[in-house]
This record gives sequence, structure tokens and C-alpha cells, in this order.
Amino acid sequence: MPSVHIIGGGVAGYTLARHLVQQNYPGSIKISDAQGLPYDRPPLSKSLQFEPFAPLSWYQDNNVGLIQEEVERLQLPQAADDWVVLATGTRPKALEIPGGHHARSLHSAADAAWISEVLESGMFGQRVLVIGAGLVGAEFASTAKMLGAQVTLVSNSNAPLAHVLGQELAEQLHADHANHGITTVTGAVTELGPNHALVNGQRHEAELIVAAIGVEPETALAEQLGLEVDDGILVDAQQRSLSCPQVLAIGDAAREENQPRTVHWEAAMEDAAQAAATIMGTAAVQRSVSWFWSDRHEMHVETVGDFSQAASTVTRLNRRGKIQMVFGLDANGSLVSASMIDGGLMAKAVKRLIAKSATPSIEQFKDPTVGPRELGR
Ligand SMILES: Cc1cc2nc3c(=O)[nH]c(=O)nc-3n(C[C@H](O)[C@H](O)[C@H](O)COP(=O)(O)OP(=O)(O)OC[C@H]3O[C@@H](n4cnc5c(N)ncnc54)[C@H](O)[C@@H]3O)c2cc1C
Repeated sequence: MPSVHIIGGGVAGYTLARHLVQQNYPGSIKISDAQGLPYDRPPLSKSLQFEPFAPLSWYQDNNVGLIQEEVERLQLPQAADDWVVLATGTRPKALEIPGGHHARSLHSAADAAWISEVLESGMFGQRVLVIGAGLVGAEFASTAKMLGAQVTLVSNSNAPLAHVLGQELAEQLHADHANHGITTVTGAVTELGPNHALVNGQRHEAELIVAAIGVEPETALAEQLGLEVDDGILVDAQQRSLSCPQVLAIGDAAREENQPRTVHWEAAMEDAAQAAATIMGTAAVQRSVSWFWSDRHEMHVETVGDFSQAASTVTRLNRRGKIQMVFGLDANGSLVSASMIDGGLMAKAVKRLIAKSATPSIEQFKDPTVGPRELGR
């Protein structure tokens, strides 16, 4: 009987299983993950909540085997209709300073549960130090503040995320933490103890220290299988490993040859859809322009496209003079990216425009009365 063994029950692994079920895959499907019931990661930093994709009964009803184990060794598939799919995601980067192990990451449901317990244990609001003001660090700082903690956010830049949000919006969003009662410190953390950190040589006391300094692809299993790995498991456009066509890699652990590695939820979903097409032998999946979101201080931030391709930017201000959107244009003046706060349907409109290589006028970009329907008309 044909088989698909998916290693990793994150959004990529679960979504692949769901596609295979929906497309009546005729073989056996199993997912191995030591963390058990597959769950979604974005809610961890937004609410410290564990949100499974589906109840246990979905797996039972659809004959999807769930194996709660860390896979340490694997064999390459032997039969032509057997597939191994590596959906192993990422692991948090280690904080390599003296005492770095005193910081907790926020990457798994177990991390979120532990952090939540520490936050709840302080009667008058725990002192929390967050190292790193990227997507996860900024979101968690906002969540901890909402839960009553006294939060200090340490970043090595005044505009963290400028490379993905655009400089102007990155600066504004970072400065906005102070308006929500978060203390921001720009500098380097050089030492940690169980309840303190040295930042720029100054001692900061904290009951909880969380490090959110980025992730790296989890490729140990791919390496054990002898697959080609270079900042991710290298795959072709069908998600096939360059080293073995019966092994697919999807999601944050994978990188398409000659492309940058993406670490976003929607990209992982599209990889999964493509992997299902490869296994089922159906038409290739149409990829959309890249998109991700982030939520902090009750603001919904979205980025479409790629700011690394932007040679210049145009900002749109709201009626209070705050940046609402930033558009990125390449050297030819073509729209390549946009970031926005509470943009409603704007992200979808910008996606369509970038896909069509359409470029609205500078006046349209700037005008806050030009909505998603009018933009580019
Ligand atoms: C806190 C947090 C918040 C985020 N918020 C956003 C957001 O707002 N917007 C956005 O676009 N993206 C966000 N992301 C990124 C997004 O969640 C990831 O892009 C997505 O989870 C990638 O899915 P994945 O399935 O590739 O990997 P993962 O979700 O990392 O899942 C990989 C799974 O593989 C398992 N695994 C690894 N090795 C093995 C092994 N050897 N054996 C068995 N199992 C193994 C792991 O246990 C893990 O469950 C966030 C990420 C985090 C951590």
C-alpha cells in the first residue's frame, strides 16, 4: 500500500495531511511529532494559547496516524509510491552569552504554558525582560503587558524588522511600544542570571526573561538522511529534495534552490498544497505573492511582497499624521511590497497589483481616501 510519512505536525505537516484526505489519497498517512496533537504557532505569542488544528477525532475519522515521538533516524523510502515528508520547522536560536540558558524561548505550546504560569504567579505584575523585538518578541511584549506584567523590551536596533516592514513603519511600530507602557532599551545583552540581565552594562532585574532572537531550520533528520542542506533542506519547485525525489521537504525547514528561505505561515501552507500535488500527481500549485501578518497592541500589521527588492518607498499617513501604509517600489518604479496597519482588504488588493505587475500612481499611494477597490484604477 502506498504511504506518506510526515515528520512534523506544524501547519505544513497538518495541512499536507488535510489535503491528502480531501483528495482521497489511497494509501496510509501518518504524522510523527513529539509534541502530539498538531497545533498552530501564531497564537502562542499573541495569547499564549494552545490551538490544535483539529480534534483527535478528525485523525481517527480520517485514518491519519498520529505518532507522538521524536524521529531520530529514518530510512529513505524504498518503494516508488512511498513518500517521506520533512516538515520539521525551525528551532529557536540559542542566546550565546554567559548565562544565556536562563532565557526561555517562546516557540512551543510547552513554552507558552510555562510562561503563562510564571506570569500568573506574580501578584502585582511580574517584571519581564524580552530580548529581541522582531515579530515574536514584539508580540509577546504586547501580550505580557496586556496580562499585567512590567515589560522591558531589548533590541539592538531602533527599527527592528525594517527589512520586512520597511524602515518608516518599523520605526513607528517600535516607538509605539512606549505609548503602551513598555520600556524599550536599545543595546546588547551581555550576561544573564536567573533573575537579571546586563544590558549595556546596566543591571535589569526580572522574574521572567524571554529570548526571541530568531530561528534556524531544523535539518538534523535531513542531514542524517544525507540530503543536501544549505540554510534549509534544499528542494525544487515540487518540494522534492534535490538529493532524493521521494523525500519532500515543506514549511520553514525547507528552502527552494536559489530562493531565500521563508519562515511564514502562509508560505508553509502553500508548500503543503504543492507537496500534495506532487504526491497525487496533479497540476502544480499557483504560488501567491508572499504575505504575513503580526498582531501587537491591538493592531493588525500585514506585509505583502518583499521589501528587499524596494529601491524607494512611499508612505501613506492617516488623518492623525501616523503612517498607515508603506509601499515599496523597485528601481523601475514598480510596486514590489507594502506594509500596513489595520489595512482591511488592502493587503489583498496589493497582492493582486503586484501579481499583475500593476503600479498605481504616487498620488494614489499617498491618498488615504483611495481604498482597495480604487487603488490601481
Ligand atoms: C510564537 C510564534 C508566532 C508566530 N506568528 C506568526 C504570524 O503571526 N504570522 C506568520 O506568518 N507566521 C508566524 N509564525 C511563523 C509560523 O508559525 C511558521 O512559519 C509556521 O509554524 C511554520 O510551519 P512548519 O509546519 O514549517 O513548522 P513548525 O510549525 O515549526 O512545526 C514543525 C514541527 O516539527 C516537529 N519536529 C521537528 N523535528 C522533528 C523530529 N525529528 N521528529 C518529529 N517531529 C519533529 C516539531 O515538534 C514541530 O511541531 C510564528 C511562529 C512562532 C513560533
